[in-house]
Amino acid sequence: MKPMKLEQIAVMAEGLVLSGDPALALTSVHFDTRQLDAGALFVAIQGVRDGHDYLLQAVERGAQAAIISNQQKIPENLPEGFGLILVNDTLRAFQKLAKNYRRLFPIPMVAVTGSIGKTTTKDIVSHVLESKLSIHKTYKNLNNHLGVPYSLLQLADSHQAAVLELGMNHAGEIDLLASLVKPRISVITYIGESHLEFFGSREKIALAKAELLPHTDPDGFVLLNGDNEYLRKIAHLYPGKVLTYSVEGPADIWAERITAEENGMAFDVCFRGGDRFSAFLPLFGSHNVLNALPAVAIARHFGMTDEEIIRALAAVKLSAMRFERKNSVTGAVYISDAYNASPTSMEAAVSTFADILPDRTKVLVLGEMYELGPDSGEMHAQVGRFASKLRDRFSLLVAIGELARPLYEAYEGEKRFFAAKEEAADLLASLCDSSHAFLFKASRGMELWTLLEEIEKRQ
Ligand code: ATP
Ligand code: MG
Repeated sequence: MKPMKLEQIAVMAEGLVLSGDPALALTSVHFDTRQLDAGALFVAIQGVRDGHDYLLQAVERGAQAAIISNQQKIPENLPEGFGLILVNDTLRAFQKLAKNYRRLFPIPMVAVTGSIGKTTTKDIVSHVLESKLSIHKTYKNLNNHLGVPYSLLQLADSHQAAVLELGMNHAGEIDLLASLVKPRISVITYIGESHLEFFGSREKIALAKAELLPHTDPDGFVLLNGDNEYLRKIAHLYPGKVLTYSVEGPADIWAERITAEENGMAFDVCFRGGDRFSAFLPLFGSHNVLNALPAVAIARHFGMTDEEIIRALAAVKLSAMRFERKNSVTGAVYISDAYNASPTSMEAAVSTFADILPDRTKVLVLGEMYELGPDSGEMHAQVGRFASKLRDRFSLLVAIGELARPLYEAYEGEKRFFAAKEEAADLLASLCDSSHAFLFKASRGMELWTLLEEIEKRQ
C-alpha cells in the first residue's frame, strides 16, 4: 500500500477516527497479525476467530492503527497514539477501502475467473505481460472476499497493469469482487463441475461467473473459452466486444497442430482474419495451451509483437504442484498435480500423462475428488472409464480413498485399490526406479503430496 493518512483511510473505509493522529501515515495493511509489517494498519475481521482479540498482538507486531467494529473489545493498554477507525462491518470496510484505493490507480486490470484454470491463466497472462510492462498480479491463489481486496491494496504507483484472479463458491461473490476490481479485460476460463454441489446446474455456475461481465469496462473486451457450451450461453451479457478462444476449432483466436514434445507443447496460434504463428509452451497438456491463448490476445492488445509473445510463452513457469515434474533420487519421474482435482482436470492430467514420457512405464496414482455433490460416484466412475480408454499406455492404476472406489471399479486395466494413502506407499516405493513414471492427482484435501514424500523417504 502506498502511504496513506489515517483520516484518508477512514474516508475510504467509510468509518470514523476514534483515536490517533489523523495525519498518521500507514504504509501497509493486513487482517492477519502474523503477516503485519511495522507501520501497518490491522483490520480486525471476524473469521474463524475474532480479529478484535488480536489487537495487542497487532501492536506487538508493529501495527500503528486498526479498523474495528466492536468498541467493547478495545484493550485498555493500547499504546498512546494508536490509531483506531470505527466501522460497522470490518470486512465490508476492508473491501470498501480496497475499492477506493484501486480508484487511485487508473490502470487497466485483467480479471480472470472460471471453474478451472484461473491461476494458470492468470500466471501465464501476467508472465507474458511482465516482459513488457510492470505488472501487479494476484499472489498465488488469493482470489476470495479477503484475497481480492488484499491484492488490490498491494497496488503501487509503478504498476502499469494488473492481473487478478477472482474465485467464488456462491452466487453474488463475483459481483462483489468485480465491483472492487472494475476490470478493463475479463477472462472466463471454464464452467465445470467445481461447486456443482452448491449450485445444482452448470447453467447456474455460468451465471455466477457471468456476474463479472457487467463490471467490465464496455470499451474493453471479454475473452471466453469458446470450447465451453455454458460460456457461449452467457456471452450476450457483455455489451462490448467478446472474443472466443479455443483448442478445438476456429474461434477468434485458436490453437491447432498441438503436439506434446519432450519439454512441453508446440502449437500454432491462429487468428480470425488469417494471422498465425508457431509457439512453444514449457507446460504439458492441451488444456494449458488453451490457458495460454488469453495471454496472446491480451499481449497483442497491449501492443506486444508476435515475436515478443512467442519469446515470453517459451519462458513460462508455473506455481508448484500443477503438473510439476520431479525427479526421484532413484531416477523415477513423478508428475505432481496434487494441488486440486475435478473430473475435467483429472481427465486432462491423465490424457496429458498418457502423451508424454513414451519410454517410461507409467503408473496412475489417483485419489478422491471432493465437493461433487450427489453424482460424485458417477463422476469418479467417468474418470475411470476415461482412463480405461488409454489403458494400454499405463501399467497400473493405484486408486486411493473410498470416494475413488467407483473410479477404480470402472477402470479396466491392471489396478489396485487402497482405502488410505499410507497403505499405498510400500507398493509405490517398490516400483520407484528409472524405468517408471507416476502421476499423482487428487483433491487438495487428500494431501497426496505427503504420499510422494513418504515414498521418497523409503528410498
Ligand atoms: P482454484 O479454484 O483452486 O483457484 P484454478 O481455477 O485457479 O483453481 P488452476 O489452479 O489453474 O485452477 O488449475 C487447477 C487444476 O486444473 C490443475 O490441475 C490444472 O492442471 C488443471 N487445469 C487447468 N486448466 C484446465 C483446463 N482448461 N481443463 C482441464 N484441466 C485444467
Ligand atoms: Mg486458483
